Amino acid sequence: MLEIKDVHKKFGNNEVLKGVSITVEKGDVVVILGPSGSGKTTLLRSINFLERADKGTLHFDEVSLDLKHASHKEVQKVRKKTAFVFQNYNLFSNKTALENVTEGLIIGRKVPKKEAEESGRRALDKVGLSDRYHYYPSQLSGGQQQRVGIARAVAVNPDIILFDEPTSALDPELIGEVLNVMKELAKEGTTMVVVTHEMHFAEEVANKVIFMDDGKVLEEGTPQDIFSHPKEERTKQFLHRIL
Ligand code: ATP
Repeated sequence: MLEIKDVHKKFGNNEVLKGVSITVEKGDVVVILGPSGSGKTTLLRSINFLERADKGTLHFDEVSLDLKHASHKEVQKVRKKTAFVFQNYNLFSNKTALENVTEGLIIGRKVPKKEAEESGRRALDKVGLSDRYHYYPSQLSGGQQQRVGIARAVAVNPDIILFDEPTSALDPELIGEVLNVMKELAKEGTTMVVVTHEMHFAEEVANKVIFMDDGKVLEEGTPQDIFSHPKEERTKQFLHRIL
């Protein structure tokens, strides 16, 4: 379904991605783990062109393109297939939950307002916010704001949802409600790529775990492979530190 190959990215002299390749099949829940600074977020952002890679190719169903040279039109094609959930929610503070969710549908995908609002309400219901349609972000808890972020992603009916450390800005007691929504989406067969430090989520929900270190994929496999039988010394050290 999605294959990215040999992705390279530098920020100044800092080579952050040094030839990363990953494959995602329909229905996969892929969790990307790795130490801080290993390039996880940059990789995720490169997939939907929030960062422009210096080198690499992307194949997404019928779309094949060069990550460095893709045209605006090609970028739009990929963006239509993906949705992104940000670490810091990235909600418009002057818009209600429902307006945040419908904005992308109305402006980005030219869906008529009434239809967009129906989809928006359905998405908010799905994340347990049917009583918060008209609340502004400042009137919602962090967990609720992130659930709006997830509803916004769900509403556009993407082929893949990319989650960038979706719970790392949350107080510990609010993490569970967001992970539960993600678990539900996984159960329904949503294809997801998730950068996270939540090991239990990875163990329980992922069918593929990718361990990144220093801009490369060091090891990948099932959660069982990675958590119970890591091959690489760096993976063992990382898991030892974090578990
Ligand atoms: P973390 O778990 O801490 O979020 P990460 O594995 O997601 O880390 P990235 O956020 O991809 O790592 O960052 C990798 C490196 O790239 C870091 O050294 C970071 O400082 C650098 N970096 C990321 N974005 C930029 C940017 N826009 N400009 C300059 N350097 C950047």
